[in-house]
Amino acid sequence: MTVNMTKVGRRGLLFSFDELNKAPYYCTTNVFILMGHKRYYVCDTYLGAYYMTPILTYLESHYGKKDYVIFNSHSHWDHIWGNSLFHNHLIVSHEKCRAFIQLEGEEEMKAHADSYAKEQVEIVLPNVTFSHSMVFEDDEVEFFYSPGHSEDSSSCYDRQEKILFVGDNVEAPLPSLSWHDMEQYILTLQHYLEMDAKHIVISHGPVINRSLIRDNIAYLCNLKRHNKLTFSDNDIMQKHHDNLNFLNHGN
Ligand SMILES: [Zn+2]
Repeated sequence: MTVNMTKVGRRGLLFSFDELNKAPYYCTTNVFILMGHKRYYVCDTYLGAYYMTPILTYLESHYGKKDYVIFNSHSHWDHIWGNSLFHNHLIVSHEKCRAFIQLEGEEEMKAHADSYAKEQVEIVLPNVTFSHSMVFEDDEVEFFYSPGHSEDSSSCYDRQEKILFVGDNVEAPLPSLSWHDMEQYILTLQHYLEMDAKHIVISHGPVINRSLIRDNIAYLCNLKRHNKLTFSDNDIMQKHHDNLNFLNHGN
């Protein structure tokens, strides 16, 4: 396991893992921590307790013991397997995310556990859900519904430090589709641009700036208009084909 840690603003810690940084995904995957006064807010739980435990050890040895609030940005397997470590804590998600994990969590686990799990994965559902948003007022931390990459995607906003965590909704170089509603996806990304975020954290890759959001919007607009696109880079072309395949056939 190689994990990189980057400080984001005054109270954000981005832990970046590389287990998915090979075929067919070729991306790092992040767990993002906001260190509130009262609690640690853990955005996504990656591939299980094995990977999350060193993060907890680090937090508690450097910043002391606090309660944990876990946030699942969406239901996909690479974001939720570490929930099992936190079954006695608040695990927050959008109501659709919980429903999707309930529906597909076991199946996705069976499909990917052999390749990516370090221990027996237990699917643990969120125990608190919201439909629009919820706010931990004392820590100025907000979770809000932001469908796009998937229908169940939501985001986290640190109102104090103006740090926005967008999960899989923004990706470099192209967004990755697992939902058909591109109009709503574009609205979500436009909403991000209207927020006063100073730091923008994504799930797969380093901290980004707004221009990537604008590029992702431009790409989605092209897809929506059925414009023919070509990319000189083979990997990018492949990603574009994956998106077209999803739109044409869904899976
Ligand atoms: Zn995803």
